[in-house]
Amino acid sequence: MPAERKPIVMQTKKSSTIYENWKVYSRHDKLMFRCNEKKARWYLVRDLGKLAPEHGDRSIQLTFETKGNGHNEGDYMVEDRTNSCVGCNSTELLTMHHVVPDMYRRAMPLCIKSKSSRDILLLCKQCHHLYEDKATKLKKELALKYDCPLEGKGWIHNTENRQAKKAATALLRFSDRIPEERQQTLVQVVKAYQQAHMDQGQGDDDGGDSSNDRPTWSAVLEECSRLEDVYRGPDFVEHGTFVIQQLMNMDDGTVESATGMQRWPHLETFIKLWRQHFLDHVKPSFLSGRWTVDGEIYNH
Ligand SMILES: [Zn+2]
Repeated sequence: MPAERKPIVMQTKKSSTIYENWKVYSRHDKLMFRCNEKKARWYLVRDLGKLAPEHGDRSIQLTFETKGNGHNEGDYMVEDRTNSCVGCNSTELLTMHHVVPDMYRRAMPLCIKSKSSRDILLLCKQCHHLYEDKATKLKKELALKYDCPLEGKGWIHNTENRQAKKAATALLRFSDRIPEERQQTLVQVVKAYQQAHMDQGQGDDDGGDSSNDRPTWSAVLEECSRLEDVYRGPDFVEHGTFVIQQLMNMDDGTVESATGMQRWPHLETFIKLWRQHFLDHVKPSFLSGRWTVDGEIYNH
């Protein structure tokens, strides 16, 4: 399989404040949601909000009538959050963990993926690593279930490039250990490729023959050793995108609920599957009891 895996970039913050716990109240004094200082300032400088010391420090009140009503009272989204790992309470090397892996989340409709901070929890590096093994296992099960490997579908394998690449790489790196006869075979493979796909003619390693632009033999080997032998075809699809599309197709596009809002019951089940998996494996003793598998999914 192609080596397309991106290095894991852990965004860790050492003992820093991730949740700034600013409270945002409606014009009717209802606590609507929490936000960080940057967002609170955004409201303040536009006169869309004013400081509301009557509600305590770090509180603002919106100056306009909001469309939605915010989160329900007592919901996880309006309570204060601590800047510590939900698994072990550590305040060191914290990382924002996506309960529903990003590869799936980013393929979901905007009304689910936008502002889905409910499903971003703080884990320390250690708890994160311990859980990632379990999460990978579930991803592999999903790959089987939906018949789409984690590397995605639609890779094109170019056998000719592969053979030339292997031969050139062997000649460059191990020629002192390859028997003469085998070397000749490999040279023929590279030459055949060169004749079919590259500038004609074999160059010399002595750098001579400057009257034309023939590449030197070592340049030919270098070029062949860098050939792409597997690449994304026109129908390539990422694993996450494929799985989410399958789930959305099962709902035949959309299902209208009583309120006329779009819903995707199969996506809901999928998100809950990840939430439950997180609870089962991390056993987060320091996570608010208000964070539940059945918590809100949409941002309608
Ligand atoms: Zn931890």
